Amino acid sequence: MFMRGKCIGCGCCTSRCNADALLYTGEEMDADKVLDEVFKDILFYRKTGGMTLSGGEPLMQYDFSLKLLKGAKEKGVHTAIETSGYYPGKLYEIAKYTDLWLYDVKIFDESEHIKYTGVSNKLIMENLKYLNATGSEIILRCPIIPGINLTDEHFEKIAELSASVSSVKKVQFMPYHPLGTEKMKSLGREQKYENCEFLSRDAILPYLEKIKDKTDKILEIM
Ligand code: SF4
Repeated sequence: MFMRGKCIGCGCCTSRCNADALLYTGEEMDADKVLDEVFKDILFYRKTGGMTLSGGEPLMQYDFSLKLLKGAKEKGVHTAIETSGYYPGKLYEIAKYTDLWLYDVKIFDESEHIKYTGVSNKLIMENLKYLNATGSEIILRCPIIPGINLTDEHFEKIAELSASVSSVKKVQFMPYHPLGTEKMKSLGREQKYENCEFLSRDAILPYLEKIKDKTDKILEIM
């Protein structure tokens, strides 16, 4: 029996598995090595592309992320960070080298936010205000999950927020799909959205229709 709680992720068992039933993916790299990889495609980044730090949460590795962003900006590469916004430190330095923030907005009610994500949303909203003042562009990324935030009230609040934060250029709505459920099960993780069903783009359209005149920002369904 595999006791996941005792696994420290050392990867030793993968090298002994002749059937390749267990694979260790990913590679440990320092920032310079990552940048070498990034710069291999630099010709493609000049006009519309760039480097996006994603995760997990890139801000959890603040110094590493900062080094990558600085290095990319030195070569004129457009930079973006995909983040939950939950970062307790100062974003001043990293914001200097970030052209675009892809910023999650999940739930407005604080207790509901704690219930579903495990943390308060106060810091997330404070950081959003701070980033607005830095002048970097922001795209709000809004996962929409039936039974949790597929409500008129939630969409109204997104419209209100996007209209009030001048650096927000766009709002992207991401309808829930349960693709990650099986992976979560296989990793032995808690299933918070097990009973949620796939949400189509069409199901979101009526909500967008109701808010489209309440914000001047572009609204997209991903
Ligand atoms: S990765 Fe494999 S060898 Fe390493 S602790 Fe986990 S189960 Fe054991």
